[in-house]
Amino acid sequence: MMGVPVMNEGLYEAYALKYGSTTTTKASKYYRYEAYADPDVTVQLDFYFWLVRNSTRTVLIDCGFDAERASLRGYRQETHPLELLARRGVDASQVDHVVMSHMHFDHIGNLCLFPNATFSVGRSEFDFWTGAFADRDFLGHSGEREETKTVVELAKDGRVRLVDDTAELFPGISVTPVRGHTPGLLITEVATASGDLVFASDAIHFYEEMTLDRPYWVFHDLEGMYQGFQLLRDKQARPRTQIVAGHDPAVMAMFRTVDESCVDLTAARSMEVALRSPSTSCQPVKKPAQPGEKPLRRDISYAVNLRCAAAVFHISTRGKARFMRISCAVPLRRDSGIFLP
Ligand SMILES: [Zn+2]
Repeated sequence: MMGVPVMNEGLYEAYALKYGSTTTTKASKYYRYEAYADPDVTVQLDFYFWLVRNSTRTVLIDCGFDAERASLRGYRQETHPLELLARRGVDASQVDHVVMSHMHFDHIGNLCLFPNATFSVGRSEFDFWTGAFADRDFLGHSGEREETKTVVELAKDGRVRLVDDTAELFPGISVTPVRGHTPGLLITEVATASGDLVFASDAIHFYEEMTLDRPYWVFHDLEGMYQGFQLLRDKQARPRTQIVAGHDPAVMAMFRTVDESCVDLTAARSMEVALRSPSTSCQPVKKPAQPGEKPLRRDISYAVNLRCAAAVFHISTRGKARFMRISCAVPLRRDSGIFLP
């Protein structure tokens, strides 16, 4: 084909914008955490939304929680999403489209702030939250009626695209519904000059959900959640592809810092730099012996946490040290120089 290629038409800048943070524990965030022989530890859970843009369009993936409604749940907004966008030179009126990854309060609390935007959401997500079972305690606790109403109003105005299956929203931006955390969470894939980004949103809150196959405590469909982990691992295995987890503070360490609330997702930090000054802690975990059973040496497993700026490695040995599982909270690229079985 002849002609001058349109620069950037399908390639985007991409930023993670962090608008809040809270401290919690693994035992409270993982489904049946006691089933793992790991000690409970305190973890930080960050709140993000994501900005992707090029010379022709500005797209958000989610838009953060509403400060007032979230405060009733005990969460504090550290920086208003519009302030974070303003720092990147984006005015609310310039936002062309908002992908609603799912309809939980911390992802769709500010839809009204974008007067010129269209929106997309998974059809099964929309159907669930506007259906008869959305107010059931164990299904609907992370939704807000007011926000569902807003989505319905936007849909009536013809501004919402309901997504049934993998769909290209714009050149270089596609979405895929994933059952699991919610009925129809959308993961979003974005092409950038440095490779593809897969915005998992809450298909994984923390990278460990994917790397260790450990479900989060909130799910609509447990099998779907495991399928989502597999889908993300398959995508991660593709060359030049990086998963962006929904709430993991590791995201702030894995990519180039723009300011204290923003990282440039097109600029991954070198793992070697991140690993230069690791600190280690080794904690033997003794499994309780069954009644009448003599504790054996092989019942002792060792959990070694190698902590560094961008990663938490979990190494455990079981039995006669024949089996060693090594996993990493941060997906490693094949060219990182670190081999993971
Ligand atoms: Zn969330």
